[in-house]
Amino acid sequence: MTRLVNAPTDFPADALRGFAIANAGYVQQVHGGVVRSSESPQGQVSVVLGGGSGHYPAFAGWVGPGMAHGAVCGNIFASPSASQVYSVVRAADNGGGVLLGFGNYAGDVLHFGQAAERLRAEGVDVRIVTVTDDIASDTAENSLSRRGIAGDLLVFKIAGAAAEAGCDLDEVERIARKANARTRSLGIAFGGCTLPGADHALFEVPAASMAIGLGIHGEPGISVAPLGTADDVADALLDGILAEAPERGDDGYEGSVAVLLNGLGATKYEELFVVFARVADRLQRLGLTVVGPEVGEHVTSLDMQGLSLTVTFLDPELEGYWTAPVDTPALRRGASSSREHRALRVELDERTAIVPGSPESQQLAARLTAAIAAMAVCARENEQRLGELDAVAGDGDHGQGMVLGTSAAARAADEALAAGAGAQTLLVRAGAAWSEGAGGTSGALWGSALTAMGGSLSDTAGFVTDQLVAAVRAGTEAVVRLGGAAAGDKTMVDALVPFIDTLTAARAGGATLPDAWAAAVAAATDAAEATAQITARRGRARTHGEHSLGHPDPGATSFALLMAAVAPGPDGDEPTSSMSRTGAAS
Ligand code: ADP
Ligand code: MG
Repeated sequence: MTRLVNAPTDFPADALRGFAIANAGYVQQVHGGVVRSSESPQGQVSVVLGGGSGHYPAFAGWVGPGMAHGAVCGNIFASPSASQVYSVVRAADNGGGVLLGFGNYAGDVLHFGQAAERLRAEGVDVRIVTVTDDIASDTAENSLSRRGIAGDLLVFKIAGAAAEAGCDLDEVERIARKANARTRSLGIAFGGCTLPGADHALFEVPAASMAIGLGIHGEPGISVAPLGTADDVADALLDGILAEAPERGDDGYEGSVAVLLNGLGATKYEELFVVFARVADRLQRLGLTVVGPEVGEHVTSLDMQGLSLTVTFLDPELEGYWTAPVDTPALRRGASSSREHRALRVELDERTAIVPGSPESQQLAARLTAAIAAMAVCARENEQRLGELDAVAGDGDHGQGMVLGTSAAARAADEALAAGAGAQTLLVRAGAAWSEGAGGTSGALWGSALTAMGGSLSDTAGFVTDQLVAAVRAGTEAVVRLGGAAAGDKTMVDALVPFIDTLTAARAGGATLPDAWAAAVAAATDAAEATAQITARRGRARTHGEHSLGHPDPGATSFALLMAAVAPGPDGDEPTSSMSRTGAAS
């Protein structure tokens, strides 16, 4: 959906004007498009690109030193007119002849061709190179009838670098044709784009499927297949392209490839990176060298959901032009390819070996490990509900954070226990793992709580009830110290404080550990529920304070649930999972 529109018919012109203002250091507007705002050497071949609008950065975003001298900008998805082409070429000409580059579409062929005739009649040497990279659009035998999609970027980058290097028009044309002949693309879409002012997409792709062989003008795919994982998508794209790979040793191809993974306009960069990782792994396994990869939006189709993969099978000449510096609004490369690679020698796991604790402390460590495992089970059981609570006024990740944190802590505890850790070492390691595994506010706070609890225990002493209570207090104090929240701020502190106070008072009154713990859980549960009546004054929820009214705080709720899950059994010994749901806030 294109929402920010004045008059729909003015959309391309309005967008171009804003683009030119924002990039005044690169471009200036002329009738029909933009040309460089910087001087080019007299006699340099001019590279003028063009096509319909709606594909940004193609083509106006590529005007600048090292790439194009001008871009002709038609209406949305429509070829520019011959007079627009003529006007941009006249403004971009440096006296060295002009290479016109565009994707192979009938309208563009006609209008650019018409303009070229007029320019030639007026004495300007004009050559035309059409990009034909889309392997889905015709057979390999008819490769020059294929349409042009994201391969535009590679062909025009290479042609522009050749012009910048001072090649004459024959050379620039030869190099551009070679780049096109060695460039292949294949794309898939999950949904069509919506023209500015329209209220529905040009086409729809059924849920959980993908259209293979899409165009970049809202053309639907050529076939529809079930949507698999990101790796499946990467494989489908790469397999299609590799089927047309040249033999190594053919025409200077020795396994170097330029790769573009292109977003069509509404596919997230992170998704592109997931797919690219697979593409890169597979190319590496095939012994191919990826040179100057690009992952991002380069040839879009308004807000089309989908992506395309382009590979150019390089030779040393093409590789040199592909990696050459370029400075345009949308593609910038310094002389980075010549930088030396730094060998990284950082030790990623700097943890020292575990010094075994005393047998008594190891026993306590085993009980703590079981307790942490019970927390992990409890977090998984309540993941969804905690996420929903956090979504009321926060970012919805508390359930996930607690699952990640408790499971990381449980894994670390298992490992430490197996290595003979005492209680202190075990909790310190579990705390670090929780914090690292979960991230987020609650991850940091829980991590410090476990670490502080560990600090108040030792690797020599065994289980002493009141030392455990003291450890819980140390954990609580760490949360307050680090988070700076006070009771009444609507955070986990609201449940922590009544928990430790009740536990301490019950023990002082002579209660057994299980009874004291049960009383503390009840107090924490009530307190967590009561946070529904207050407005958040800390954490993320503070920003949406009023929204949180009527809903309990997620961190306080999860604390009460976890404490219920680790309640010591009647013998004051093992934690029992049978109690994991009693006393839980719900
Ligand atoms: P994030 O806010 O980083 O997404 P989570 O969603 O995992 O972290 O945790 C949110 C919970 O963290 C809140 O419900 C609250 O209980 C707790 N919290 C936030 N800020 C503080 C703080 N300063 N002190 C104590 N607890 C806090
Ligand atoms: Mg959150």
